[in-house]
Amino acid sequence: MKKETKTIENITITIERKNIKNMYMRILPPNGEVKVSAPLFLSDNEINNFIKSKKDWILKKQKYIQENNIKAPLKYDNGEKHNVWGKEYELCLIKNDSVKHVLIDEEKSMIYLPVPKRSTIEKRKKILDEFYRQEMKKAIPPVLDKCTKIVGRTPSEVKIRKMKNWGNCRYHDKRITLNLNLAKKDPICLEYVMIHELCHLIEFNHGKKFKKLMDKFCPNWKEIKKRLNE
Ligand SMILES: [Zn+2]
Repeated sequence: MKKETKTIENITITIERKNIKNMYMRILPPNGEVKVSAPLFLSDNEINNFIKSKKDWILKKQKYIQENNIKAPLKYDNGEKHNVWGKEYELCLIKNDSVKHVLIDEEKSMIYLPVPKRSTIEKRKKILDEFYRQEMKKAIPPVLDKCTKIVGRTPSEVKIRKMKNWGNCRYHDKRITLNLNLAKKDPICLEYVMIHELCHLIEFNHGKKFKKLMDKFCPNWKEIKKRLNE
């Protein structure tokens, strides 16, 4: 396999020569990097002409990636950045069967993830998600205690789940469900979502009454909500 980088029409392109039949082009997030896989028999000229003919399409794709802040898909690999309670850490895989717990080094901002010697992205994601679940389990009781005192309502139980919304409250059985990903956000966000869901034990919908309750129990909720959805 031969790899080279060149600039055609002001676009930087990485070309990989492979034993394939057709030419492929990909525009990759987050920077709109252009990667071309070309058959071995194709001449440089043919590749150049192909890029030139696709220029408008490439620029359009790059603009879309940039404007929509499209991120590269996570690989859960060494050096990747992951957040825990609003702080960014660099991921470091420990391929070691004796270490079982995720370790955090606050000083170096590193998160050490114990993984099997050979692991898939899905497996590593699962291990990290389990760590987030444990973090949520530790964080919830004191926050629940504080927030029930503020709001004056108590849920029947609090569950943790991967879900679309940050939280959910079932009025009929008073069960609160919290999004697992809250463990990635600043701790104040967990408190805000907890108060929000507890307020649903007083007021079902998000109308004027509800907002008044939020203003009373969590005066800067609008600012926290913004931070949560960043
Ligand atoms: Zn709500």
